[in-house]
Parts: sequence; structure tokens; C-alpha cells
Amino acid sequence: MRGELYIDGKWMPAANGGTFDIINPATEEVFHKAAAATAEDVDVAVKAARRAFDKDGWPKLPGHERARYLRAIASGIRNRQAEIARLETLDNGKPTPEADWDIADAAGCFDFYADLAEQLDNNPEEEINLADPRFTSKAVKEPIGVAGAIIPWNYPLLMAAWKVAPALAAGCTVVLKPAELTSLTALELAAVADEAGLPPGVLNILTGSGSIAGQAIVDHKGVDKLAFTGSGPVGSKIMAAAARDIKRVSLELGGKSPFVVFDDANIDEAVEWIMFGIFWNQGQVCSATSRVLVQEGIYDKLLSRLIEETNKIKIGNGLEEGVLLGPLVSKRQLQQVMAAIDGARAAGATVACGGERPEGFEKGYYLKPTILTDVPLDSDAWVEEIFGPVVCIRPFKTEEEAIELANDSRFGLAAAVMSKDNARAERVAAAFRAGIVWINCSQPTFTEAPWGGYKESGIGRELGRWGLENYLETKQITRFASDEPWGWYIKAPA
Ligand code: NAD
Repeated sequence: MRGELYIDGKWMPAANGGTFDIINPATEEVFHKAAAATAEDVDVAVKAARRAFDKDGWPKLPGHERARYLRAIASGIRNRQAEIARLETLDNGKPTPEADWDIADAAGCFDFYADLAEQLDNNPEEEINLADPRFTSKAVKEPIGVAGAIIPWNYPLLMAAWKVAPALAAGCTVVLKPAELTSLTALELAAVADEAGLPPGVLNILTGSGSIAGQAIVDHKGVDKLAFTGSGPVGSKIMAAAARDIKRVSLELGGKSPFVVFDDANIDEAVEWIMFGIFWNQGQVCSATSRVLVQEGIYDKLLSRLIEETNKIKIGNGLEEGVLLGPLVSKRQLQQVMAAIDGARAAGATVACGGERPEGFEKGYYLKPTILTDVPLDSDAWVEEIFGPVVCIRPFKTEEEAIELANDSRFGLAAAVMSKDNARAERVAAAFRAGIVWINCSQPTFTEAPWGGYKESGIGRELGRWGLENYLETKQITRFASDEPWGWYIKAPA
């Protein structure tokens, strides 16, 4: 297990020798230590990334050559998929089959952006038709420069892949900081990149705290672009800091996403997707559909099936066979989610199931999957992201009412609708004010499709070709191509 910083192609301790504990959320045991990067370490890493970008030629490599490194990283991850998935479970708590899914997706993300890097070679410039025939013009895409990437703990390797793969494909160099709660698989990514022969400085991975290492990346003048996934308050601080020297910034933040189920839906199918929408990854999912709206004709029946199936979910250590709900990531996260449930109770909500630690678990940050009903529309439980396995469910009468309730949020990351009536589903999908809309499902995520939020859920899009655009600048190159002189100051002789 690794615990050092990966800077300029070398492994090293933090400049001041500082470390922090790595805790297994299933057992509460400290099982490892990782280096706590200082601002000095960040400075060395950013300077290495600058040199790799400005002098060593990473952005000048043809796309197909960068693609070779990306494919080597993808296969390096795949070759060690089971081992990396196990580390993810130890560090984050998620059940191993979920971790396995994430690691396979992360490898797929590197392959996908390898394809896009190759395509950059085929389509490097776009001719522009100018109204003025004396000029010709073209637009070219160029990498932005050094990208500072800061990621959360809910999908540790996958979030790293979503930023590193498109950035490297575009020709940027990267300084990445994983969340302090989940450092291990990011370090494995560094090891895989190193084995793939990635030139020194192109990818630097530094573990450490947000307030020291993260802040140092955000503040560093050598960073051209900040790519952040995490909470709204930190995203807002990062955007404000980026404004100081006009750094490019993309933000993927939180949500409180609605799931509208009409009365023509199959109840078991709806229950399956509602559960997948909120209990996958212990509900620690930015796009989790945590506000469920069910048309009144099927509300009672659906709710009782949902409670029945929710009570069957096997809770336990993510390494155990058959476990579908692991512990939350940390003690603090568990306390926050429990406090949100207590707040809901105090506001008048009913805890229809869960809402407490499961019996028989003395250690570990476990919480029973929880369903809240009668949640007041102005209560925190309905309005604020809880980021745990907690769903609020309420009935609605008409399509119009459902859309109004769904959109009544300061967030706009995702939304889902379920109906057998395709025209209605399309109508509601069009009415949602959200960046990601699912019809007859919730959560499936594809590397090829754009990902990101409306409103306070973020700025910019990751994944797909949109994810590559995040790391590219557009340059116009315009030529004066007339045989006649311009003649503004210096007139042609009469
Ligand atoms: P967080 O904002 O506390 O931390 C995210 C990252 O930012 C961590 O690496 C942290 O160390 C770093 N950080 C903290 N303070 C910083 C600072 N001052 N300067 C620079 N970096 C700093 O969020 P979290 O608790 O890790 O993640 C949970 C949140 O992330 C939830 O709100 C969730 O909705 C959101 N999230 C969004 C997406 C998405 O795709 N939109 C995905 C995952 C998580």
C-alpha cells in the first residue's frame, strides 16, 4: 500500500514529514498512513507540471501518442482491477462489487479519452467563413495548461479518472489531490501511470487536506485551470479564489434530485430504480434521487413495497459476499446524516423505516437505509442534500404539480421520471431544470454522455466530448490575405 506523494515522476514524503491516518470505515481501524502534502510540496508539483507543459513537450505530442499512454493506463488499471477495488472498499467502505464497477469504469474512461485524443489529430482546425473577403481565418483547439484537480471521497478512483483522462488527452498536465478520506486508489493511479512510462511532471498526485494542500493548488499562480468535484460551499470558495487570477474553473457540486413516478408505472420496477437511486454507494452520490414524488393512485402500494424491499437490504462490511449497503465513509459523515434524520423528525417527518444504526454492529459507520414520509416542503430534509441512504417520499396529484415540486430546488444536477406513456415522460424530461435526466431509470452513468448540473449544482460538463472541451482553449488565427494595402494610416499614393 502506498502512502507517499507522487511528484515529478518520483515518490516522496511530505516536505515536513507529516502524515495522516487512513481509517477503514467498516471497522474504524487505522490501517495505514498517507503523506500530508504542504504548500511547499504543491509548489514543487505545480512547477514540475509547468515544466512538463511549457518545456518538455506534452501538449505538443500528437494526440495519438498521448492516446498510447492513456491506453496503457487503462490496461494497467484493468490488470490490477480486483486489487484496486479491494483497496477502494477498505478506504471508502463501498461494497466490493460496486468498487469493482467503479474501477472498470475508470479504466474505460481512459480508453474513451484515448479515442478522443486520437481524434484531435484528425480535426485540428476549423476554417471560419468571414464576411470580409480580405481575411481568412481558422479556429484551433489548444490545451489550457496546468490543471489543478480536487476530488471528493465518494467515487475516489472514478472521480480521478473523470478529470485526469480528459486533461491528459487534451494535452494538459495535472496536479491532483484526492479527498483526505480516500487517498489510496489515487496513489495506485499514480503507480499505474508511472508504469505506463508517463513523462515526469505530466501527472502529479498529492494526498493531504483540503485546507492546506487543496487551498495551495487553488491559490497557485502556476495553475491555469481548476477542476473541482465536491460540496457547494467549497466549490463556491474555489470559484471566488479562481476569480482572483481568472483561472478557468469547472465545478461538479451537490444536488437534491427528484424522481417522479406516474401511476402507470410498474410498481416493482419503480421500487428497484428508487432503491438504486438512493441506496447505491450508501446514498453518497451527488446525483442521488433523494426526493421521490409518486402519483397518489399508487402511492400507498408503492411505499409499502419500498419499505418491504428496503428492509431486506443486506448491511455489512463491503468485503463480505452479498452485502449491498456498507458503512458511510466516516464518523463525521454518519453523524451528519443522523443529525439530518433527527432534524427531519423534529420538523414533523415520519421515519417509515431505518433512521438508526443496524443491530449487531458495534464498530463501523453503519446506518440502516432510511425512508422519510410527511416531510414538510420547507424542511431541511426536503431541501438540503443529506448525502446518505435517506430518501424523502411524497404523493402528488397532477403532472403540473409534480414538475413544480421537482423544480422547486436551488440545485439542478439530475432528475428522473418513470411512466409507460412515452410522450408524458418526454414532456416531463423537457420540463426538468437539471443537467442529467433519466427516463424509466435512475443513476446509470455513461462516459460518452455529458455530466454536470444546472443552478447551484455546478458549472461546466464532464465526460463525453464536453469533458475534453473542459481542458481546451479556442484560438483564432486570422490572416490578412488581400493584395490591396490596408490603407488606414498610410494612404496609397494617388
Ligand atoms: P468537500 O467539498 O468537503 O471536499 C471535496 C474536496 O475538496 C476534497 O478533496 C477536500 O480535501 C477539498 N477541499 C476542502 N476544502 C478545500 C479548500 N478550501 N480548498 C481546496 N480544496 C478543498 O466535499 P466532500 O465531503 O469530499 O464530498 C461530498 C460533496 O461532494 C457532496 O456535497 C456531493 O454532492 C459532492 N459531489 C458532487 C459530485 C458531482 O459530480 N457533482 C460528485 C461527488 C460528490
